[in-house]
Amino acid sequence: TYIIAEPCVDVLDKACIEECPVDCIYEGNRMLYIHPDECVDCGACEPVCPVEAIFYEDDVPEQWRDYTPANYEFFNDL
Ligand code: SF4
Repeated sequence: TYIIAEPCVDVLDKACIEECPVDCIYEGNRMLYIHPDECVDCGACEPVCPVEAIFYEDDVPEQWRDYTPANYEFFNDL
């Protein structure tokens, strides 16, 4: 799955939502989240993010590692 990290916070540009072919990017209060079970790893969202907030799960920068479980947990709470 792809993961959305800190640069999205309070930005929520939503360009990624337009690109996602399976509509698996959802809006939270302060950022967007990718549903890990619905994402098909196409990578279409990553280049269109104006703040470079989207990373493949294995490539999330160390300082934003907590955003990986945060993306999973967002959907556990729904
Ligand atoms: Fe959607 Fe593809 Fe991005 Fe996954 S990688 S969130 S399927 S656009």
